[in-house]
Amino acid sequence: MSEESRVYDVYQRPLRDLRISVTDRCNFRCRYCMPEETFGPDYEFLPKASLLSFEEITRLARLFVGLGVEKIRLTGGEPLLRKDLDVLVHMLATIDGLNDIALTTNASLLKKHAMKLKEAGLNRVNVSLDAINDETFGKMNGRGTKIKPVLDGIQAAKDAGLQVKINMVVQKGVNDHEIIPMAEYFRHTGHIVRFIEYMDVGNSNGWKFDHVVSKKEIVNQLSERYPLEEVEPLYYGEVANRFSYSDGAGEIGVISSVSDSFCSNCTRARLSADGTLYTCLFSSRGRSLRNPLRNGASDYEMKDLLESIWNKRDDRYSDERTEEKVANREKIEMSFIGG
Ligand code: SAM
Repeated sequence: MSEESRVYDVYQRPLRDLRISVTDRCNFRCRYCMPEETFGPDYEFLPKASLLSFEEITRLARLFVGLGVEKIRLTGGEPLLRKDLDVLVHMLATIDGLNDIALTTNASLLKKHAMKLKEAGLNRVNVSLDAINDETFGKMNGRGTKIKPVLDGIQAAKDAGLQVKINMVVQKGVNDHEIIPMAEYFRHTGHIVRFIEYMDVGNSNGWKFDHVVSKKEIVNQLSERYPLEEVEPLYYGEVANRFSYSDGAGEIGVISSVSDSFCSNCTRARLSADGTLYTCLFSSRGRSLRNPLRNGASDYEMKDLLESIWNKRDDRYSDERTEEKVANREKIEMSFIGG
């Protein structure tokens, strides 16, 4: 794309990444994301008619690519619950200028889908796995699901030729005892484990600053066991700090959105399953793209709208996070906005 078409926000941050949530439903009830008390049997998920169709998603994705988006990540909810996801991947893969299509998933259903997704044009998978023992994992996912289906999903993705990273959200007193076992398990496998600081997304998880295990604590714990060396970021806006094991066993990452936030180079936009655009993970509100789309807006009008939204973007919530802001801000749930 030409440099003139690239859009920038108020702080000169370009639009590079688009996360698309394809469903607000999930088969897990992780306490830090979709606690059963809030997302119980009576919770009203989005009705089918309000979800963007694959055609609508692809049309928007093409417009976003025209404004500078290079990477698309499909997420949710649990994206593998959306029927025929490979068809969407295939449609997105036809977009000129889109270099990278990725998926974030809990991988419990990945074994069945990995090969089809790869064949459709998926490049990478981030698998969320918060513990490597059944008891802790079963408690955390709120469904008692064991690690075996997830590990099978990871293996199937690897066999299909997909690049796999593992994401572990670390919560003090809940799974911080799993940092070393997770590192141990995935050393020498070629899969990078990324340890993620627990964030105050949404309003239902009862987040507090002292539930966070900071990047510093994570790195200290790991390096006492396995000496680490810091590695340069691969590209502008890379969210993880990278470290390699000094003994050559591979690499890990740490995502420090609380203790060392990275708003200054955040290039991500998020599209919820009902077609609302959010310019920050911690947004209180977004702008519907589905309404103008379904009211017959032309590509030109839609592009103009996207451009004007991004040009006005001034979000930097994590850089400004305080106890008071955490307590007072209404935020969209992560399962809705897309992780
Ligand atoms: N269901 C998919 C999955 O499990 O990967 C995709 C959606 S999920 C919302 C995306 C990611 O967000 C997961 O890795 C999850 O652990 C992470 N996440 C959810 N709530 C979080 C929180 N409060 N802090 C940090 N990460 C969180």
